[in-house]
Order: sequence, then C-alpha cells, then structure tokens
Amino acid sequence: MEKGECLFCGIVAGEVPAQIVDSDEHTVAFMDINPATPGHALVVPRNHSADLLDISEEDLAHVVVAAQRLGRRMEEALHPAGFNVLHATRPAAWQTVFHFHVHVIPRYEDDPLELPYVPREGDPDEIAAVAERIRGDDE
Ligand code: AMP
Ligand code: ZN
Repeated sequence: MEKGECLFCGIVAGEVPAQIVDSDEHTVAFMDINPATPGHALVVPRNHSADLLDISEEDLAHVVVAAQRLGRRMEEALHPAGFNVLHATRPAAWQTVFHFHVHVIPRYEDDPLELPYVPREGDPDEIAAVAERIRGDDE
C-alpha cells in the first residue's frame, strides 16, 4: 500500500485529524473513533507495516512498550478496572485498517464487552497434533 493511501500513515503525518494521546520517536497513540469503552485508543508504529507478520521486530517492540505507557496513562486518568490489548491480522481476524495497530481498551466493571468465543475444553490429542504442526515435528 502506498503511504498516501493509508489512513493511519495520514494520522502519523498529521494530515488526518485525530485525538493523539501519546507519541514518541517510533509510535503514535490516538483515540479510536468507534470506542468499545470510554478511553479505547490505538497504538501504531510511525513506519507503515500491514500486520503482525509484516511489522519489524524493532517496531513491534516499540509498539508494545508504548501500549504499556498508554495503559499507565489511562490507569492514572481513568482508573479502569482492567485492560484488554487486542490486535487483528487480516480480515478473517476482523482487521479493517491495514496499518499495524494494537487496541488498548480500558475495562470497567459494568462495561458491555463480552468474550467473542465460548471457551470449551479441547481434545488433548487434537491440541497435541496442532502443536506438532506448529513446531514442525510432522515434517
Ligand atoms: P481493526 O478493525 O482491528 O483493524 O481496527 C481498526 C480500528 O480503527 C477500528 O476500531 C476503527 O474504529 C478505528 N478507526 C478507523 N478510522 C479511524 C480514524 N480515522 N481515527 C481513529 N480510529 C479509527
Ligand atoms: Zn500506514
């Protein structure tokens, strides 16, 4: 994707308006325009990358540290009961903006968010078989 076509590159460049709440040499954090809860914000690297597989290790590390700093700001300012840090890679995982970002979502005791899946006990043999494939033991 060309830099000029990317919404979050536009926010990083100051060309698209956003409520910026934190930034450093490598990252920018701004409020999500469709907040899941009050305070929901996004952290992005200044360098364009599409997703978890595309981002450099260095930028990923900077984003994670910035997400922690943002969480600490929110803790001070909003006193949430907890946090979710979410990321989506590719449309199948709900990604809609293709510039890497993590969502930092402060949580409150009475907020309406729910787990998007029902945890159910897995079959240990199936879990072990998938683990083998991930480790590459089956090749
Ligand atoms: P995702 O679906 O994980 O790719 O997240 C993209 C997020 O970007 C969504 O939560 C959107 O609400 C948010 N978003 C889209 N456009 C903007 C914008 N101009 N400023 C701030 N947040 C945005
Ligand atoms: Zn971008």
